[in-house]
Amino acid sequence: MDAEIIAIGSELLLGVTIDTNSAYLARQLAAAGVNVYRKTVVGDNAKRIEQAVREALDRANLVICTGGLGPTLDDVTREAVAAAFDRPLEFRPELLDQIAARFAAMNRPMSESNRRQAYVPAGARVIPNPRGTAPAFLVEDARGTVIVLPGVPSEMRYLFETAVIPYLREERGITTVILVRTLHAVGLGESVIGERIADLMQQANPTVGISAKRARYELRIGARAESQAAAEAMITQTEAIIRERLGQYLLGDEELPAVVARLLRERNLTLSLYEGIIQAPVLHALLAAPDIEQRLRGVEIHPLDRPADEQAASDLAAAGASTVADHWQSDLALGVQPASIANEQGFTAVGFALVTPNGERRLTRPFDLRSAEGREFIGTAALDLLRRYLAGEPE
Ligand code: AMP
Ligand code: MG
Repeated sequence: MDAEIIAIGSELLLGVTIDTNSAYLARQLAAAGVNVYRKTVVGDNAKRIEQAVREALDRANLVICTGGLGPTLDDVTREAVAAAFDRPLEFRPELLDQIAARFAAMNRPMSESNRRQAYVPAGARVIPNPRGTAPAFLVEDARGTVIVLPGVPSEMRYLFETAVIPYLREERGITTVILVRTLHAVGLGESVIGERIADLMQQANPTVGISAKRARYELRIGARAESQAAAEAMITQTEAIIRERLGQYLLGDEELPAVVARLLRERNLTLSLYEGIIQAPVLHALLAAPDIEQRLRGVEIHPLDRPADEQAASDLAAAGASTVADHWQSDLALGVQPASIANEQGFTAVGFALVTPNGERRLTRPFDLRSAEGREFIGTAALDLLRRYLAGEPE
C-alpha cells in the first residue's frame, strides 16, 4: 500500500505554524509498514486542495489529509475533497446532533457556522471526533481512499490512533502492531542512564529512547511485532532489563509528582513546605501532582533577607521546615533555601531539608537560579528527596 500525506492550511505555507502533523503521520505510517512516497502542503484554497487530492490519488491508493475542517469559511477541505470525488456535500443530521451535544456539554451556544461541520462528501464514512467539533471522514472510489483528519494536533493524533490504525488493520490487512511504553526516571544524569542502557538504545527492535527535562527522564520503549501480545512481551522484557539497570532511579509509568502524591496518600501523610525562593519552584513542581491539595497543609514562601553561606542556607531550610511542620501540624515538611551568593559559574548552593517524625534528611546542591529552567531542577531535587524517603529508601 502506497500512501501520501496532504497538510492543509495557509498558516503552514506562511511558516507561522510548523507542520508537525505530517511528520507524525509519516512516522506512524512508516511504523505500520505503509510506504509514504510524498508529502504535500497546500493552503486553504479549494481549487488547489482539490488538485492536490486528485494528483495524490493518481499516484497512491491511500491519501491522508489533515487540516481545514474548522467551522469558518476559510476552512474548505470538505468542499475540496468532495470536488476531487465529483460529489456534492451531504448534510448528516446525526453529526449536527453530536456537535450540538458537545456545545451543550460545554454550556456554550452553538454558532450557525458549526452547521458547516455537519456536511461531508456524499457517501463518505464519518469518523466521529469526541475531542472536538470537526468530524473526520473517509471517502473512497476506484482510485483509492482519502481520509481527512482535523488539523488540531491532539485531535488528529487521537483519531489516527483510534480510527485510522484500526481501519488499516481491519480493512487494509496491515498486521504490524506498534506499542510504546513510557517510563520515568529521576536522580541520575542523562549520560549515566545512557551508559547503563547503551546496548538497548542501539537495538533496532524494540527501540529504547531517552529524553530529558529538568533532570527528569523519559524512557520510551517501542516494540514492533505481528501481534499485540508479542509486542507487549517484548516491551515487558526490555522494561525488566531497564529496571534492573536503573534500580531505585526508575519510577515506572508515573511521573515524579504523581509518585510523590500517591505515596503520601498511601501512607496517609501530610506535608508542608517552606520555600526561600520567591518563584517557589518546589510548590510548582508539587502542584503538578493530582489531588496534592489533599496532602499539602501549608506553604510559606520567604526569600532570604540576610546573607547566608552554604551551611547557613542548609540550617535555614531545616529551621523553616520545622516551623511550618509545627505551624500546620503536618507529618512531614520540606524546606528549601539557597545561599545568598552564587559562584563564578552562576551556581548557588541550595539547602534542602526534609523534616520527618523521626528525624531529618538534608541535601545541598548547586543550581542555576537565574532562569526559570534552572529553578525547575530544584523542584525535581526536592520532590526526589521526598520520594526516596516515602519509598523507604535509605539516605
Ligand atoms: P484547522 O483544522 O485547519 O482549523 O487547524 C486547526 C489548528 O491546528 C490550526 O490553527 C493549527 O494551529 C493546527 N494545525 C493545523 N494543521 C497543522 C499541521 N499540519 N501541523 C501542526 N499543526 C497544525
Ligand atoms: Mg486551518
